[in-house]
This record gives sequence, C-alpha cells and structure tokens, in this order.
Amino acid sequence: MSLPSGLPVFPGTVSASGQPATLGVMGGGQLGRMFVHAAQRLGYFTAVLDPDAQSPAGLVSHHHIRTGYGDEQGLKQLAALCAAITTEFENVPAAALQALAASRPVAPGAAAVAIAQNRIEEKSHFTASAAESGVLAGVSCAPYAVIETQAQLEAVPADLLPGILKTARMGYDGKGQVRVKNAAELAAAWAGLKQAPCVLEKMLPLKAECSVIVARGWDGRIVGFAPQRNVHVDGILAVTQAYEGNMPAALAQRALAATRTIANHVGYVGVLCVEFFLVDDGSADGALVVNEMAPRPHNSGHYTMDACDVSQFDLQVHAMAGLPLPQPRQHSPAIMLNLLGDVWFDAQGNPRTPDWPAVLALPGTHLHLYGKTEARAGRKMGHLNITGADVAAVKATARQAAAILGLPGLEDI
Ligand code: ADP
Ligand code: MG
Repeated sequence: MSLPSGLPVFPGTVSASGQPATLGVMGGGQLGRMFVHAAQRLGYFTAVLDPDAQSPAGLVSHHHIRTGYGDEQGLKQLAALCAAITTEFENVPAAALQALAASRPVAPGAAAVAIAQNRIEEKSHFTASAAESGVLAGVSCAPYAVIETQAQLEAVPADLLPGILKTARMGYDGKGQVRVKNAAELAAAWAGLKQAPCVLEKMLPLKAECSVIVARGWDGRIVGFAPQRNVHVDGILAVTQAYEGNMPAALAQRALAATRTIANHVGYVGVLCVEFFLVDDGSADGALVVNEMAPRPHNSGHYTMDACDVSQFDLQVHAMAGLPLPQPRQHSPAIMLNLLGDVWFDAQGNPRTPDWPAVLALPGTHLHLYGKTEARAGRKMGHLNITGADVAAVKATARQAAAILGLPGLEDI
C-alpha cells in the first residue's frame, strides 16, 4: 500500500491554520501514555480519546477528549485535531476506527483490529496465513473447537479435554477463561460464561512462552525485535527475558518469520505483537504454537524502552505518521518485571509504599510508573526494566529487585 494522503506527518510542523502536527490515540491506558511520551519527544502534539478523566495517557496528553469510544462528537473532535490516529487497546469498536478512517489515516486499520478482537477470527486468520505461506509450516494453533451453540458444545471431541474455555471476545490477562477437565465441567463453564461465543482449546504442556513484536509500514516494510521469553503468573505477564539465548535460535527464527507472515497477510500497518507457546512435544527444542495477536505495542515489549535504541512506542509513532521504520538494535540484555497493584500491599494485605530507593539503588534499573493513583491486586501499575553489561548481571539484579518488591516469576530464571 502506498502512503495515504496527509502522510507523512512531519514532527514539529504547524499547519497554515496554526495547528501543530498532532497524533491521536484511541484509549488512555498505560500503552497510550507511553505512546504519548514517544510522540511528544519527537515534537508532536497528542490527543487521547478516553472517557476516564484520570486515564494515564489523558493525564499527560496535550488534548484529552473524554467521551465513549463510539461517541460521534468525540470521534469528530479527534479527527479534527489529529493528522493520524492509532489505538492502544484492541477492544476499541472497529466501527469507530472505520469512521475515523473516512477522514484520517488510521493505523492499525479496523479490519486488523477486528481480527484481534475475536479469538475465532484470529485463529482462522492464523490458519489462512499458514495456508498462504510455507513460512508458517510447523506453526499451528492449539487444537480447538468453536462453541457457539449447544450442538457444538455436545460435539466437542474428547481429545480437546482437559482444555481452556475462552470467550471469543473481550478476554485479556487471563480474564474470560475457565480451565475444564471434563465434559461436565465444560458445560458448567459455558453456562457460567452465559453461553457467550467461545473457543475450547486443548490444554498444552508448555515449556515456555514467547512473543514477537514487529512494526510494518504503509509501504509494507517490516522491522522487528528478537523474540522475548515471557513468564505468566495467574494468566498475567510477570517477567519478560530479552537476551540472546532466551530460547532455541531455530524457534526464534521461525517465530519471527511467522509474525511477519501474519502481519503481511492482513496488510497490517503499525506495531503488532504475536504470542507463541513453546510446547513440549518430546523434541529437544519443543514445538511452536501460535496463541494470539495484539494490534498494538505489548507489555512484553516494554524492555525496548531502555534496552534498545528504538522502542516499540517509537516504532508505533513512526509507522502511523508515515515516517521511515529503522531496524531497532538491542544494546543491552534486559529483564522486565511487571509491577502489579499487589506490590502496594504487604503479606497481611495492608497498604504500603514499595521500597523504591532500594530498587533504584541497584545498577541498571529503570522504573516506569503509569500514574495510576489507586493500587488494586492484579492492576498493572508500572514495570521495572533491568539492563546490564551481560545476562548474568541482569539476572542478579532482577533477583535482588524481585526480592525487595516481593515479585513472583523469577524462580526458573
Ligand atoms: P489472554 O488474552 O488473557 O492473554 P491467552 O490466550 O494468552 O489469553 O492465555 C493467557 C495464558 O494462559 C497464556 O499466556 C498461557 O500461560 C495460558 N494458556 C492459554 N491457553 C493455553 C493452552 N491452550 N494451553 C496451556 N496454557 C494456556
Ligand atoms: Mg495472552
């Protein structure tokens, strides 16, 4: 695809009518906030659309439009202010992105976001990408069945159990998921999810999990980061390991190639993250299984802010604005520790202030807090990036920081 009219948006320019070059984002969470910071560093003005007056991105943006995501007036205002628009969470109504796209370049586009919003379509897309290209050969989805009707529930093959029932829509951080051992539990779980459209996935023996982040431009050029290895605790990302040797090199290559194929298949523009499982299939390395995709920067790519010369948020800005996409270079091995609200409570459940001075005294620690004033268990409050001269140093510092803060997920690192 060639560059849409209105692009590139040069940073720091002012239009004939006196309007500074402004980039917009749908959603005001932490991903939006880090996008805003990256855009502002380049000299852009920013606009955030999010109904929450206290949204992390709204608090730091030049403009904050406080309406719902489908609000016609709000969307008009955003389009009037912005030269290009992106999104920071996948549950933005695809229709809203489509409406914006009538007058402004929007990246990623509504079609790609719609695929990521629905696990059923996502899996079809992965399968179609695989069929189109030999590159995905050997990278399949977990065996699954679609459950939208009672008949489909009853027809579920026994070899998909034990499995995980996942709602097709609105799932994130392990929400909307129930682990089921047998047909009776499956039926009860589907009833518990109010018979919403679901997929049942076979429970796979995971050796590890990883993700790949790429950015694709309007011209189809793709750049990307090496695969990250991720540790989840209770369905939420806890730790990301980003350094050479974090996973078998052949699988890393294959995951990167698969991600490029998936991005190409929808003509994606922007930053895309694809999550993979490394499944124990008896082989030394394990088999690669594609799990899901996020049409935006991803929690597992936050290390790029401190360990790479170009971060995932920089790439998001470049891609949407029609600027060139430089291939990022990782200059330091890194570990990212997610900081959930749990860190703000002691073992007895009493509120506490984490011992930041002790953490910040450690070499190579980079603290990122998202400006959320209320800590709740499981709520993403910030992250801590740890960089160092070598992997051993990074691991040692990560263990110290985790001990100070009481963080899980480093047991096998
Ligand atoms: P979410 O949208 O909540 O991130 P995921 O599908 O990525 O949903 O599932 C969350 C986590 O649950 C995964 O990162 C993985 O640890 C575990 N999980 C999900 N599906 C499977 C599966 N089929 N087999 C084993 N573990 C799984
Ligand atoms: Mg996931």
